[in-house]
Amino acid sequence: DGEPLHCIGCGAEIQTTDKTAPGYTPQSALDKGLENQEVYCQRCFRLRHYNEIVPVGLTDDDFLSLLTQIRDANALIVYVVDIFDFNGSVIPGLHRFVGDNPILLVGNKEDILPRSLKRSKLKDWLRQRANEAGLRPIDVALLSAKTNQSVDDLLKLIDKHRGNRDVYVVGVTNVGKSTLINQIVRQNTGVKDLITTSRFPGTTLDKIELPLDDDHVLVDTPGIIQNAQMAHYLTGKDLKLVTPQKPIKPKVYQLQDNQTLFLGGIARFDYTKGPKSGFTAYFENNLYIHRTKLENADDFYARQLGELLTPPHAADKDDFPALVSHDFKVTEKSDLVFEGLGWITVPAGTHVTGWAPAGVGVLVRRAMI
Ligand code: GDP
Repeated sequence: DGEPLHCIGCGAEIQTTDKTAPGYTPQSALDKGLENQEVYCQRCFRLRHYNEIVPVGLTDDDFLSLLTQIRDANALIVYVVDIFDFNGSVIPGLHRFVGDNPILLVGNKEDILPRSLKRSKLKDWLRQRANEAGLRPIDVALLSAKTNQSVDDLLKLIDKHRGNRDVYVVGVTNVGKSTLINQIVRQNTGVKDLITTSRFPGTTLDKIELPLDDDHVLVDTPGIIQNAQMAHYLTGKDLKLVTPQKPIKPKVYQLQDNQTLFLGGIARFDYTKGPKSGFTAYFENNLYIHRTKLENADDFYARQLGELLTPPHAADKDDFPALVSHDFKVTEKSDLVFEGLGWITVPAGTHVTGWAPAGVGVLVRRAMI
């Protein structure tokens, strides 16, 4: 009693309150572990028993230590991003911490992008976005961790580029990094017993090391939390409804100015100025998109939120944050992005307004397609 308990796997201090922090153990598992004098945190437990890696959240201090260690390592950095949510995948300050280490950029969730989209074009587009974030990747890979598509190609690219280096896999939470690591573990039969955990110096964070076929290791770093993601503003049920699981089928709307599109009750698009034009919407295929006149839009939303306009559903609508507007003058063909939800491709020479809950990013970027 009184002495803090530590996980015998990774050494993190055991706690039962914060599922996303290191050392989390459900109370029932803790009681059982105490009986057997063997307390593992949930993360190590899953890793040992199910070969499954669970991400944990980071404090700012831990985040800084993590980046510092990456800077000081001699490593190939495999930077995993969600193609569907590039902005939500950006690790703040990463470019200042990579040092001379090469970066291999991995665009995950390829399975949900329209099949018609040329992959070479998508790679160029990803490279441009990385350049804007101050990164110069040596290579770009596209894959789907979920369907295991092209994961073997990534392993070949890693071997090609790592030379005499360790490999650090980095990414913010929700980009699919754990899913990817689990696929890599699965493809390397027998690697299970060889997984080791060790500590990032001066932090409570553990890293997971997968031995490569020489003296080097592939290091899975803890997922960094990016608060601008839609995932943080929707309940689990609603998030599921707006997260694409299948390839997106683009929908084209011919709009006059002063028309509005509602994206369920979660977001809104106003076409405020310009000639009659085509706008292409990329969202979860079943998300209900409702067209109305701009002058009626506020009223309509107040009446129909949780009714015609879902999600959110009626039971949750009172807790749903108000939508905040963002105005843009579009001078070249662009995507108006609702971070984590999707985007609308907007022609040049138009004025548009995007609405989303406060905290969810709404921005304009060079058109992907
Ligand atoms: P992490 O936080 O980066 O470790 O992300 P997870 O591996 O936990 O994945 C976050 C979410 O993205 C989960 O709902 C996954 O099912 C989903 N996901 C991961 N990889 C893919 C993928 O390749 N395609 C799709 N469509 N979803 C994915």
